[in-house]
Amino acid sequence: MSISCPKCGIEVSSPPEREWRFQQYQVSRFKCERGDKFNFYSGMNKKFTIPRPVVDHSHCRACETDNPREAVYCKNCGTKL
Ligand SMILES: [Zn+2]
Ligand SMILES: [Zn+2]
Repeated sequence: MSISCPKCGIEVSSPPEREWRFQQYQVSRFKCERGDKFNFYSGMNKKFTIPRPVVDHSHCRACETDNPREAVYCKNCGTKL
């Protein structure tokens, strides 16, 4: 199973920095190559990361607005995404 950084999408191959249990989840703390830290939650029938991956929208770096994934220009400031 591969785990990707929710922020930059890079696959993380290094082992977790820390692991612990949270309710019914096994939590692993990862750090990606670019230095983003995130928690990976692994449960019986659910796996997810905190923060959530930014996959279904395009994030404008100029004004921090989230745009639809198919957007080419930011709806707020017009910057090319
Ligand atoms: Zn990252
Ligand atoms: Zn913008």
